[in-house]
Amino acid sequence: MNPALHLRRRLANLLPLLTAERRCAACFSAFLPPPGSMGAEAFFCPACARRLARREKGYCPLCGQPAPWPLEPPAPCSACLISPPLWEQAFFHAIHADLLRELILRCKFQGQLFLARPLAALLASHPGLAVQEAEALLPIPLHPDRLAHRGFNQALEIARPLARMLRIPLAAGLLLRTRSAFPQTGLSRSARLHNLRQAFAAPCPGKLAGRRLMLVDDVMTTGATMHAATAVLLAAGARSVSVAALGRTSL
Ligand SMILES: [Zn+2]
Ligand SMILES: [Zn+2]
Repeated sequence: MNPALHLRRRLANLLPLLTAERRCAACFSAFLPPPGSMGAEAFFCPACARRLARREKGYCPLCGQPAPWPLEPPAPCSACLISPPLWEQAFFHAIHADLLRELILRCKFQGQLFLARPLAALLASHPGLAVQEAEALLPIPLHPDRLAHRGFNQALEIARPLARMLRIPLAAGLLLRTRSAFPQTGLSRSARLHNLRQAFAAPCPGKLAGRRLMLVDDVMTTGATMHAATAVLLAAGARSVSVAALGRTSL
């Protein structure tokens, strides 16, 4: 990794320690209330927390696809009515836009890993996650080449504090990325899914058999990656798979 970039990342991660984590994790300028508050309030000032509010209406509850009308009650989208997802439940925080997108990008590409815990707290505040019954959290793995280049897997960085907040064991090694996805252009949906499925492997099916699992990622775009990972886990014997992502892109 570039030494200057490495130094910048180290300094960015030290910043909250130098400021004793009493400032807003997003804007760094506003002071936070005393410790004891939960969720977004524990990490963000009221103005930033408002910009990071969870999307409670106007989305498909099965795949998270935002609906054109943000105030409509959640309702399945046409794609899910035709072909429901393989996963049992899906949890999203908000559309991948505005401040949420900025924080995810800062965490992912500027190495501001101190944002992983505040981001995990946003996801953990989802009321559905408090009552779901997953027995293990599995971050979507990065291909080893990309992991070597970036130095960390942002999905794992977010899943680690999320696992503590939800009191669910983290099982990062049970799903591996064996190769990058092949170019997907011009392929049918089923061919794309088949391609992607080849990119994942479950090396210890005995540890997955009969268990309820939850996949965690920072952003869900088309859902193809989550689908492929879900298919591999179900084929390995998992009882059920749910998915959780902070940001959902609007297609
Ligand atoms: Zn703020
Ligand atoms: Zn849908």
